[in-house]
Amino acid sequence: NRRYVLAKRPEGVPDKETFELEETEIPDLETGQVLVQTVYLSVDPYMRDRMRAGESYAEPWDVGDPMQAAVVGRVVDSENGQWNEGDYVTGELDWAEYTVTGGSALHPVDPDLAPLSTYLGVLGMPGRTAYFGLLEEGKPTPGDTVVVSGAAGAVGSTVVQIASIAGCRVVGFAGSDTKIEYLEEIGADAAINYKQTDDYRAALDDAAPEGVDVYFDNVGGPISDAVFTKLNTDARIAVCGQIAHYNEEGVVTGPRKLPQILPTRATISGFIVSDYAPRFEQATQRLGNWVAAGDITYRETITEGLENAPDAFLGLFEGENIGKQLVQVTDE
Ligand code: NDP
Repeated sequence: NRRYVLAKRPEGVPDKETFELEETEIPDLETGQVLVQTVYLSVDPYMRDRMRAGESYAEPWDVGDPMQAAVVGRVVDSENGQWNEGDYVTGELDWAEYTVTGGSALHPVDPDLAPLSTYLGVLGMPGRTAYFGLLEEGKPTPGDTVVVSGAAGAVGSTVVQIASIAGCRVVGFAGSDTKIEYLEEIGADAAINYKQTDDYRAALDDAAPEGVDVYFDNVGGPISDAVFTKLNTDARIAVCGQIAHYNEEGVVTGPRKLPQILPTRATISGFIVSDYAPRFEQATQRLGNWVAAGDITYRETITEGLENAPDAFLGLFEGENIGKQLVQVTDE
């Protein structure tokens, strides 16, 4: 069984030295345990935080520890009455071909209801993050202008579409022309390639002529500075992620335009999707209905092979993915 362990804590941007692929024996199952074969593994920006020692909402990995990810896999052996060979499940498992787990934290997934990969994307954690972050923190109303940073990623592309369904004008920031085209395809009213201009404020003058009512922030940094200068009275800022800062060491400065909060009476709220755990079922149902009706579409970037999981993870910081970045470890 091949699995990745954290080989070294990165300073700044992680690199190949951060990860080590090791070969281990699969132990015999004890009573209650289940052996899961990974089909898809999710790489997510927050994992950068788990590589860091010290306080964070996600528990840090120790050097030498196997790394974990959201996985969709199949049960290949079971000593647990709740799970049978052949069941498809999702759970927080190792970056590995196989994981032995207690079974209590696994959830069933139904490949007949939706493609397996979607349980890690639009119908999984990123979809629910978009759903609750936009609707509960952003509180959009029809006619509002919603700006989304990191708009072509897993969370962002879902936010764009839910905001469209909510009757809003939607403006997305993303880092390539292909992503800008994609954003227009999924209903963004305007899209800004932040790698093609330095003047985000001027771009927003065109894209959001009536100002910004909701800012769904996946990124932070200079994009947020510009958006803050365009806030309307009583604007809502949902701080979902700050990927522009994840590889910074030491004190992160900003937001530099915080004084704008004062005259606009804007509200900034941070949230973690697990805050909404009691309502996950509701979100999955609604997202599922929207996907089934074609009101929400999704893209995935699938990297083949467990050995390429570090590249897939590092690619998130280079913007190599459109939609959800996954690693396919074995055939479905
Ligand atoms: P994405 O699929 O959006 O992938 C990350 C994207 O971020 C890249 O494709 C890249 O796109 C963009 N990006 C990377 N670096 C920068 C930068 N310096 N400036 C601007 N854009 C950058 O990831 P997810 O959808 O999984 O996550 C999006 C955000 O949401 C992350 O910040 C993540 O941490 C956060 N998150 C928060 C959760 C919560 O509970 N609060 C739950 C899940 C995710 P581009 O080409 O446009 O640069």
